[in-house]
Amino acid sequence: MRQSKTFIPTLREVPADAEAISHQLLVKGGYIRQTASGIYSYLPLGTKVLRKVEAIIREEMDRSGASEMLMPALQPAELWQETGRWKVYGPELMRMHDRNNRQFALGPTHEEVTTSLVRDELNSYKKLPLTVYQIQTKFRDEQRPRFGLLRGREFIMKDAYSFHADYESLDEAYKTMSDAYHRIFKRVGLNFRAVVADSGAMGGKDTHEFMALASVGEDTIAFSDSSDYAANIEMAEVLDQGQKPDTEALPLEKVETPNVKTMQQAADYLGHTLEEGLKAVVFKVDEQLVMVIARGDHDINDIKVKNLYQAQMVELADEAEVKELLGAGFGSLGPIHVPEAVDVIADNSVKYVANVSCGANEDGYHFKNVNPERDFQVKQYADLRFIQAGDASPDGQGTIQFAEGIEIGQVFKLGEFYADKMQAKFLNEQGKAQNLIMGCYGIGVSRTLAAAVEQHSKDGAVIWPKAISPFQVHLISLNPKKDEQRELADRLYERLLEAGVDVLYDDRKERAGVKFADSDLIGIPVRVTVGKLAANGEVEVKFRDTEQEAISHENDLLDQLA
Ligand code: ATP
Ligand code: MG
Ligand code: MG
Ligand code: MG
Repeated sequence: MRQSKTFIPTLREVPADAEAISHQLLVKGGYIRQTASGIYSYLPLGTKVLRKVEAIIREEMDRSGASEMLMPALQPAELWQETGRWKVYGPELMRMHDRNNRQFALGPTHEEVTTSLVRDELNSYKKLPLTVYQIQTKFRDEQRPRFGLLRGREFIMKDAYSFHADYESLDEAYKTMSDAYHRIFKRVGLNFRAVVADSGAMGGKDTHEFMALASVGEDTIAFSDSSDYAANIEMAEVLDQGQKPDTEALPLEKVETPNVKTMQQAADYLGHTLEEGLKAVVFKVDEQLVMVIARGDHDINDIKVKNLYQAQMVELADEAEVKELLGAGFGSLGPIHVPEAVDVIADNSVKYVANVSCGANEDGYHFKNVNPERDFQVKQYADLRFIQAGDASPDGQGTIQFAEGIEIGQVFKLGEFYADKMQAKFLNEQGKAQNLIMGCYGIGVSRTLAAAVEQHSKDGAVIWPKAISPFQVHLISLNPKKDEQRELADRLYERLLEAGVDVLYDDRKERAGVKFADSDLIGIPVRVTVGKLAANGEVEVKFRDTEQEAISHENDLLDQLA
């Protein structure tokens, strides 16, 4: 591509609002421009990189047996009402209506649409398993869009969905997808870790996040320096489950409480006062401390108790630990103040650290004497906020290190949640109708691009990993007014193109200083400069990633670049 004919508006100054390195460098290099908060245009260079990342993802998805399709971004509210997510998803869902007042959402994800497609068409075990994927623009009205492409309100995602007749088949697909993700992020050129993560609201089971290590990352991960153990510290799995929950506790009691529908009513019922702006509430139920956590941007006073999905019981050795835990807040919730919890801990009546899936919370009832593992599906977790760097890793191999990570992808075993809500059934071998079992797998395509920039820059300029560089070679003619320079550069441009080398050719009538500065900002790893040596048919080659430089004759250039 001739630089004189394309659109690469480089900037010398860092844009004032850009905190993240990737945001700064992508704007300075003429890759992207902000159109509105959290909404970006990809200029020609940005589009090229995006296509390269997409191509790698496509290759690995196709290779893993997934079929590409393309679903609508505009989704009818009815589908979201079927799963209850029209309410639960909250303000992140971009909602709108058409001229007839029919409600729609701009898709932040596509579980509902995919499930609706499959339930109508896929009715026999013979057609399972099936994995489909798409690469598409997603919309999320993020509370804090920031860091350029890292957290946008409109962004590009690869989302895949798998459907199965049994859980073994789901396990296989999960493994296949995880393997593909490892290949994808390796090919892109990222330093990343797959980490155990929190399965969150949707009654999910296993889930891993793929984290690109970078200081701008909003997640903290703990990992072993000598094994594959790695976990998001929000929710870190204990591999060695030493303690067992107390099964001697009081029997579970089901209490009819038809008027307890909101968090406020729950608090009233239990005799608690809710603080304004509080994001988490601790209830003491008999001798156990039950912590109910509300996530996201909801106002706690609006939260329907039915929508609460986490309860935690906490085992802590002493008061200081509790204060620390409560002071730090759970996960990303920020500090919470529950003096009573501290009292409860002090008299030693709290027993376990557990994450309890509250899927069984029936409408119109409350449960007293909740007992992890007996009453709910329980996973045991280590709260890695109490682990220091250098402590033994929970898997017994090596010591724990901490790092900041950017979530570039996530794989998730959804199980039957969507099938159950949406009546997505198939006929099994015995001819019986059964819920489809499902997995979902996302990659932030545009976020991956930005994560690569976070990891690959030097002296205020990006140096692209070869696999996703917008061009393989940046060819610069320093002084095109000189015939021998222009002619040699023109010749090399044609030769490189003929040899299938993707080349950006700076043929502009600009000063040498401007060209070099732009070339640095654009960040193509290989630069070929046609200058004074043109008289001898020679050019300078600079490999910007290794800082190697060489003089090459025009006839040897292709070998040199190979
Ligand atoms: P986050 O925790 O960063 O908000 P998420 O867990 O909400 O991300 P998922 O629902 O798992 O995101 O979506 C799949 C992938 O899409 C994420 O792993 C991430 O790479 C990407 N992604 C999510 N939100 C954004 C966003 N606002 N901007 C860019 N990429 C995003
Ligand atoms: Mg999110
Ligand atoms: Mg996340
Ligand atoms: Mg995620």
